[in-house]
Amino acid sequence: MIFTNPAGAPELACDECGCRWFDRMAGTCYECGTAVSAEARAEFETALEAFAALRAHEQGSVPANRA
Ligand SMILES: [Zn+2]
Repeated sequence: MIFTNPAGAPELACDECGCRWFDRMAGTCYECGTAVSAEARAEFETALEAFAALRAHEQGSVPANRA
């Protein structure tokens, strides 16, 4: 499943236990060991790209020196 954090960024979470800690090397959940499905990863990639595009759009409308 995919959560959206308070900053609006997508976060991948375990389908089984809902935790967000993954062993990125093995592609499994730290809590329960469930493997992240290819669909979940693809969905997450899509969500990340959409978020990055949104961020880029937003930053384009804000003066660069406003940090
Ligand atoms: Zn889990």
